[in-house]
Amino acid sequence: MKNQQSTQLFERAKTYFPGGVNSPVRAFRSVGGTPVFIERGKGSRIWDADGNEYIDYCGSWGPLILGHANEKVLNAVEKTMRNGTSFGAPTRLENELAELIISNNPYIEKIRFVSSGTEAVMSAIRLARGYTGRTKILKFEGCYHGHSDSLLVKAGSGLVTFGETSSAGVPLSFVNETIVVSLNNKSAVEQAFEQFKNQIACVIIEPIPANNGLLIQDKSYLQFLRDICTANKTLLLFDEVINGFRIGFTGAAGYYQIKPDIITYGKIIGGGFPVGAYAASKDIMSCISPDGNVYQAGTLSGNPVAMSAGIAQLTECLKPNFYQDLEQKTQLLIKGLSQNTKHHFKIFSVGSIFWLAFTDKDKIQSAEDILPDSMNHFKTLYHHLLENGVYIGPSGYEVGFMSEAHTKDDIDKTIKAFEIAFKSL
Ligand SMILES: *Cc1c(COP(=O)(O)O)cnc(C)c1O
Repeated sequence: MKNQQSTQLFERAKTYFPGGVNSPVRAFRSVGGTPVFIERGKGSRIWDADGNEYIDYCGSWGPLILGHANEKVLNAVEKTMRNGTSFGAPTRLENELAELIISNNPYIEKIRFVSSGTEAVMSAIRLARGYTGRTKILKFEGCYHGHSDSLLVKAGSGLVTFGETSSAGVPLSFVNETIVVSLNNKSAVEQAFEQFKNQIACVIIEPIPANNGLLIQDKSYLQFLRDICTANKTLLLFDEVINGFRIGFTGAAGYYQIKPDIITYGKIIGGGFPVGAYAASKDIMSCISPDGNVYQAGTLSGNPVAMSAGIAQLTECLKPNFYQDLEQKTQLLIKGLSQNTKHHFKIFSVGSIFWLAFTDKDKIQSAEDILPDSMNHFKTLYHHLLENGVYIGPSGYEVGFMSEAHTKDDIDKTIKAFEIAFKSL
């Protein structure tokens, strides 16, 4: 595989950016080697700076549910752009995207657009605190909610603990407001509610945790969270930045038919542009300024170009059988991959999200169930896949995504690439 161009570009990038990148996982540290620099994409394919072609299952980490450079999205974006790229004043397009989302989603009544998933979650936490007048939040080990201070917290050693920071630069005083417990553990949550009675503003969870492997929870567990939150007047916050519009148009809330109090969105919502959102009932959203006293603002919020990309993409997602087709293709891939594996290798999936895991377990439902050693196998697999034209996120903790653009032929080729990779494992 040629990689001279990527290597040169990376050397140059290292002189400009910490680690040579603008987001850490892109540096390939967990798989080793040089990141491939992408030149262009179309449909299911991407091409790197050395001209290598890959079938892409990273999809920009989830947003590209229609594949790369979708014509409908491009046309919408171009048309909007010609009339100016930003006004900092309201536009018709914000109404259109909001109408599209809210009229097809029974779990929310009002929404606020922001510019990233991190921003959506950070604002939603402030909203939960403002609405309840409480300060503590409860999160789960193995769920990712972006990089705001209160959420860069990992579990300490006890059953119910304040976390420890997972980043330097996060003050202890922030960490002391965040309680961290294991996923799939009811008694830890019960104990937290006893210990911090009337202090927990919200419980935040990725209802289908997909940022640290794919840690599929039982519906009964999510229902348990719903019930204990209601009983304690604590808000339940579903962080659907990755699940939203991916597991069906109504995300995980619709998939499990559980109504959270606040939902955050990102990734798919912006059609490949930087958009996030948080949404809730009219009552809860009335706390947000200028209606209420929870402040939140953004110079580029509701950006017209990004809104039109979102409208174009989500309109496609609403086509009949859109999600069924994605799931069928995902199942086809999984079936093909499962036939020729002998390496304690499993593929977990929901809808069009899948996760490659080296394990003997039939279920992995908490971060502690992932063996760090298994990542060595992933590392080897990763480079064989690259060499055979398959691009997935460069970390064994990341999931893969099927897009509308993937074809049966892509899937056959992917299965072949895995066959070759497995032979050399
Ligand atoms: C990606 C992600 C975020 C962060 O979104 P950014 O746009 O990267 O800031 C937050 N929560 C979840 C569940 C995510 O998957």
